[in-house]
Amino acid sequence: MRDFGQDHSALALNTASLGHNLDGAGAGWSSEQLIDACAERGFGGIVYWRRELGDRAQQIGERTRAAGLAVAGLCRTPLMVGPGTPQPLEDEVRASIDMAAALGAPVLTIVTGGTEPGTKGLGPSWDLLAERVAVACDHAARQGVKLALEPLNPMFGGNRTCLFTVADAYEICRRVNHPALGIAVDVYHVWWDSRLTESLAAAKGLILGYHLCDWLAETSHMLLDRGMMGDGVADLRAIRAAVEAAGYAGFCEVEIFSAEDWWKRDPREVLDTMVDRFRRFC
Ligand code: ZN
Repeated sequence: MRDFGQDHSALALNTASLGHNLDGAGAGWSSEQLIDACAERGFGGIVYWRRELGDRAQQIGERTRAAGLAVAGLCRTPLMVGPGTPQPLEDEVRASIDMAAALGAPVLTIVTGGTEPGTKGLGPSWDLLAERVAVACDHAARQGVKLALEPLNPMFGGNRTCLFTVADAYEICRRVNHPALGIAVDVYHVWWDSRLTESLAAAKGLILGYHLCDWLAETSHMLLDRGMMGDGVADLRAIRAAVEAAGYAGFCEVEIFSAEDWWKRDPREVLDTMVDRFRRFC
């Protein structure tokens, strides 16, 4: 297991942590400000969201690399099944993959979407998801991008996800069986899973991303009250040990949706805190 006590070059910022995901939240920094602030603090990479790039994906990718940082990934495809699926879906999936390629992002995250309207439970949605992910993988492979299925905490079932565990995501990987497909592991979504270590071992070689935050014991909002590493109850070192045992040696990206706390603070303080907590608790 890597030792981050004296070295945080594996630390990446997911820009959601500075609050841009909600209109009116966060300090409203430009991508350029954010890149410079991360470079000054020795971050290794940045993960962007599509909504902040517009038609500047290539430019922002180049600016990131010129500052000595890696583009670690892009969030995310549109929802691919369930009630929130855009029309026409295939065009928007391709556009998200093309944006990742223009940005130079090696990985694009998939939040699957929930249960397909007119169906119940998970079976029909999984069938449809596997079919659509397979099509997306062909395009991603042509563009040199990998797709990472991100299972979400079960409380997001219904409208946002039909994958709740690493084991669920692995089952879709197994069915699709495409070299462009893997799994993103987010502490917020998997910390509770007592079978996580075994599931990660089964998925060895397929882990494409690792997302950091913490689970607050007294959380107040299921989407927007994530904790800073060290403030909650997730066993961060144990999770990372299992993720690394499954072959992952890439960036650890901090992804903290926190409307009432971290998004209200000065981004400089948020970034400094991340570095400190990463070294001490992750
Ligand atoms: Zn995540």
